Amino acid sequence: MTAQIIDGKAVAASLRARLADLVPGFTEQAGRAPGLAVVLVGEDPASHVYVRSKGRATREAGMESFEHRLGADASEGAQMNEAAVIAAIDPAKDVDGFHVINAGRLAAGLPGLVPCTPLGCLALLKDRLGSLAGLHALVIGRSNIVGKPMAQLLLGESATVTIAHSRTRDLPQLVGQADIVVAAVGRPEMIRGEWLKPGATVIDVGINRVPGEGGKDRLVGDVHFASAVEVAGAITPVPGGVGPMTIAMLLRNTFAAAHARAGIAQPAEL
Ligand code: NAD
Repeated sequence: MTAQIIDGKAVAASLRARLADLVPGFTEQAGRAPGLAVVLVGEDPASHVYVRSKGRATREAGMESFEHRLGADASEGAQMNEAAVIAAIDPAKDVDGFHVINAGRLAAGLPGLVPCTPLGCLALLKDRLGSLAGLHALVIGRSNIVGKPMAQLLLGESATVTIAHSRTRDLPQLVGQADIVVAAVGRPEMIRGEWLKPGATVIDVGINRVPGEGGKDRLVGDVHFASAVEVAGAITPVPGGVGPMTIAMLLRNTFAAAHARAGIAQPAEL
């Protein structure tokens, strides 16, 4: 079997185009465009590239982009504390979905802002599989930004969910039982095709830089693509799978939050 390649880039492009069509309607009704503000601390080059591409995508969708750059020496008096920074964000504007109020809402099955990467993974899964009810989904990784919200979203779709992590025993055996595998580990090509149940749908969240030919780095996922593509029913490539969906979902969350704050109903087609 050769797996179908799930084209996250195309799905993301169509979502962004739909948003760009819908944003002017909101702007007219609300009297201002939705806006996305990014606070960037320090000089990490990868973060700067990411923030630049967020800004570009925001403007392309007809939204306003605000960037606040702080030096690496910015502090809250002592060291920057991730939990304190997240807690300082208004949950209604928390388009990354990291605030504890939004995490709680997701766990309780209430509407709220959901982290963009798992939201993008879910959109790809539903696009490919339709209903996920009763399917066995294995989420590998338990971070607050990917693994845990991913598992909650899959539960919300009535999948039977298993979460694996660094202390899990016999990962290959668990992978072999799963109809859906979402890999969010951060270890290059760790999950092997031989472990997969034939026909499984594989969503590879991992973005790992490894040495490539000619001294240039290349990007690989957490799944060993060459062996997995022989066994899976469908698989996301790296790059071009989950990555583009994350920014598209960030724009969608911004659009949704702007509607909620303005008291305007969101268009049903999104
Ligand atoms: P993290 O480091 O916070 O979490 C990694 C998780 O993997 C942990 O929960 C850990 O328990 C688990 N893990 C580690 N070793 C394991 C092992 N041997 N077996 C099973 N589980 C193991 O990482 P994260 O922020 O969740 O990101 C995971 C990966 O996804 C990274 O490669 C990251 O770059 C990528 N990522 C991609 C996007 C995107 O937009 N595509 C967004 C976020 C993260």
